[in-house]
Amino acid sequence: MPRAIYDLSFQALEGALVADGLRPIHARSLWRALHRDGAEDLTDHPDFLPPLRRWVGERVGHADGFHALRPPVHTEIASSDGLTRKYLLRLDDGQTVETVLMGYTGRHTACVSTQAGCAMGCVFCATGQMGFVRHLTAGEIVAQVQHCRAVLRADGAGNTLRNLVLMGMGEPLHNYDAVMAALEIITDRRGINLGPARVSISTVGVVPGILRLAEEQRPYRLAVSLHGATEAERSALVPASKRWPLAELIAACRSYGASTGRRIFFEWTLIAGKNDSPATAARLAELLQGIDAHVNLIPLNPTGAFDGLATSAEAVGTFQRVLQDAGFPATVRQRRGIDVAAGCGQLRAARRGE
Ligand code: SAH
Ligand code: SF4
Repeated sequence: MPRAIYDLSFQALEGALVADGLRPIHARSLWRALHRDGAEDLTDHPDFLPPLRRWVGERVGHADGFHALRPPVHTEIASSDGLTRKYLLRLDDGQTVETVLMGYTGRHTACVSTQAGCAMGCVFCATGQMGFVRHLTAGEIVAQVQHCRAVLRADGAGNTLRNLVLMGMGEPLHNYDAVMAALEIITDRRGINLGPARVSISTVGVVPGILRLAEEQRPYRLAVSLHGATEAERSALVPASKRWPLAELIAACRSYGASTGRRIFFEWTLIAGKNDSPATAARLAELLQGIDAHVNLIPLNPTGAFDGLATSAEAVGTFQRVLQDAGFPATVRQRRGIDVAAGCGQLRAARRGE
């Protein structure tokens, strides 16, 4: 089985070429073709000098070499407004992961997965309901971004991917090293060149991961999925709260904010009767006192194994106003393309057993 060339950092790619007797200078042309241009077929590439062409001929597509292929599309669906396209991509071992492409002409956002399944078990989440299967490699994360860029090129939309959110299947900070390796490739100026400030990492609240992001001064946006303003309310929805309790999580957010000077985005899935009362909103505002916080409210997208319902539009508005009156920017994220099973993990769950 050839290895995925997308797994390699720039240095590792350069190292592979040098090990085969090439000069380091060839790494740049190969990197550009792979990452900036998203080429799948590297044979006889016009920008490559003869030694690199020969290397490609000998090493790419052979069992003991590399491949530059993107995962094939298993299922594709589009929302009725055409602004959201969701793909189930098939990985080398047959696992499938969801990748979503959203947006208007000229500005697009990709939402990618970081794991097949998820170990965190949030009760309302289709991915959590399927359990953990495996971590994705850095290359499998990069390949999802390349898939989205290829779709846009085929659309004639050119290079218009502007934002990346790690909000697909899986918990990014449970797969820290592969995620950081992927983000370094995705934000590399010689390649895809996505702005680091336009990359959002969404976490269920893996405290050691949050502290490590701060310690390593990673230049990405942090979004923390909260869903509860007391320990009891939160751990009923988010079992991971037993491992990293709310008080510890908020302390980690304060420390992250203090050491990075960055705003933190808090996500809150609104579930009727569970975490959507004005009193809960007031407790949330109290909890976030002193943090530079922005709250994203997401009405629940109902999933098979959870009997909760989405909060009414009126109660969403009240919840939002309580936060705003307390001085916190709060926005409501309408899950666009609800008609395409837009919730995390829902497409794969729907396709299981077919
Ligand atoms: N594991 C990370 C990122 C993936 S989930 C995390 O939990 O943050 C991305 C976001 O979608 C999270 O805020 C999650 O709580 C939310 N989400 C998952 N399933 C949902 C559903 N059925 N309805 C609404 N939001 C959901
Ligand atoms: Fe995992 Fe995030 Fe789903 Fe929770 S919401 S189960 S952390 S993917």
